This record gives sequence, structure tokens and C-alpha cells, in this order.
Amino acid sequence: MTSSCVTRDGSGWMPEYLTSIDQLMCIGCGRCFKVCSREVMHPHGIDDAGEILGVCNGEEDDFDGELNRVIMVVDFPGRCIGCGACARVCPKNCQTHIASGTIAE
Ligand code: SF4
Ligand code: SF4
Repeated sequence: MTSSCVTRDGSGWMPEYLTSIDQLMCIGCGRCFKVCSREVMHPHGIDDAGEILGVCNGEEDDFDGELNRVIMVVDFPGRCIGCGACARVCPKNCQTHIASGTIAE
């Protein structure tokens, strides 16, 4: 079963929640992180093998030389309100969003 909401003028609105980001496609540009008002995702460093090293706290954070590149990770999916702003700014179309009511609890 799906559930929907309405906007202030009564128009139908279907929240589409961010559930994941393709780590191979994400370039870590940070656009989604900047537009999201809910702190759903954060930039993380990964090493040469693709293992996540942790939250990246700035350009100078190289994880003791282990950093290969930075990607975005959906680390707080439960905070998402499904506004869709992150999808609109992503240049790589590497996010997965699922309509309200279709996510297994
Ligand atoms: S859909 Fe909205 S609330 Fe959810 S992660 Fe994207 S920008 Fe944040
Ligand atoms: S906007 Fe897209 S490419 Fe950029 S960090 Fe977010 S998910 Fe990755």
C-alpha cells in the first residue's frame, strides 16, 4: 500500500524518500548534502578497495593517507521527508528514491 500527502493548497503530493546512493557513480560533489535540510547524507572517505573510512571532515582529512576519494553516504535515511531536492541537483543520477508507503519497515 502507498500513502500520499497533500500540499497546502490541497494538491496531491507523494513523498519519495532517498534510500541509497550508488557508490560507484557518485562523484562526491556535495550538491545533495548542501540542499538537504534534514542531514540525511554525509560525505565519507573511501580507500583504494572501496571500503568506507568514515565521515569526511574537510578537504585536509586524508584518513592517514588511506583516502582514495570522497562519496556521499545515506547514513540517516529515517530523517528523509521525501522532498526530492537532492535528486534535482545530482549531476550523476545515482540516487534511489522510493515512494512513501513502499518501504518495508
Ligand atoms: S529527499 Fe529531501 S529530505 Fe530526503 S534526502 Fe533528499 S533533500 Fe534530504
Ligand atoms: S549530488 Fe549526486 S554525485 Fe553529488 S554527492 Fe550527491 S549523490 Fe553524489
